[in-house]
Amino acid sequence: MCREYYSRGVMEKLFKKSIKQIPLTRAEARRLVAADENELFRYANQLRRHFKGDAVHLCSIINAKSGACSENCQFCAQSSHHKTQILSYPLVEGKTIRQAYRVAADNGASCFGVVTSGKRVSGADVDAICATSLSLRQSGARVSASLGELDERSLQLLKKSGVKRYHHNLETSRRFFKNICTTHSFDDRVATVKRVKKAGLEICCGGLFGLGETMADRLDLAFTLRALDVDSVPLNFLNPVPGTPLARAPRLSPREILRIIALFRFILPAKDISVCGGREVNLRDMQSWIFYAGASGMMVGGYLTTPGRSVAQDLQMIQDAGLYPLKERV
Ligand code: SF4
Repeated sequence: MCREYYSRGVMEKLFKKSIKQIPLTRAEARRLVAADENELFRYANQLRRHFKGDAVHLCSIINAKSGACSENCQFCAQSSHHKTQILSYPLVEGKTIRQAYRVAADNGASCFGVVTSGKRVSGADVDAICATSLSLRQSGARVSASLGELDERSLQLLKKSGVKRYHHNLETSRRFFKNICTTHSFDDRVATVKRVKKAGLEICCGGLFGLGETMADRLDLAFTLRALDVDSVPLNFLNPVPGTPLARAPRLSPREILRIIALFRFILPAKDISVCGGREVNLRDMQSWIFYAGASGMMVGGYLTTPGRSVAQDLQMIQDAGLYPLKERV
């Protein structure tokens, strides 16, 4: 029996489970890892279409407080442990955040994220961001925040101010986490995710790939996200930054990235799965394949410390793929 034929039978069985939202087992996920990639992408695409249709969720962010972070995440340009060439500044004014929101809305983003560097922002910064969120609410925006390991009270203040969603990545598996950060733990991150959910905020939580993790680590991350029942899953792919310990990390190939996206679609079939940092530099001409591999969203308009390509190019790509940007605000 040829590999493709064998793979098709296995894939069909796993596809039928995922479309009914019957959780795949770890052994089944491992079979996906070994599957023929054409079959994997074909079924991942069908899962995306079944759960998300042809709408593409677009999100944009502002780096509202940059650099000088106490943490030592090995990949991050904003860590004070590394010598990188980035702008460092305290929390920007509310009017700067409102201007960035206007640009994001004009670009068709359905989610606007206010992101700050650091383990967590101060109480004064939470108050300032809440005031900005209140003013944005009046213009119909639905705001997401990514402000680190906040306590329950701060999370509740954000919710009251109109913030709908909180972003906090786990980054990688529990096993591998100590290789990428030692100033806080994987469990610290999980605890923050749980506090966010307890506060009644939606949680956007995913990871970063290309750190030296194994495929088993990637599956572990996907299963942890499924157990936490996160709402939205951003997938980032390392864009090595000079001056960080991972500056010379080998790059993932476009096809490996697409395979990761497809695995996440199978394990988290009904979730929003977005491709964020590292899209342009790692996928190059294969960017439009993210949808065929199962992604239902993407970040547009640039990243925290690196620019993206033009939003016009991204919108053209979506249109050329026969898809359209999700209109509703999330
Ligand atoms: S990822 Fe976040 S916590 Fe880690 S160093 Fe960068 S800004 Fe700090």
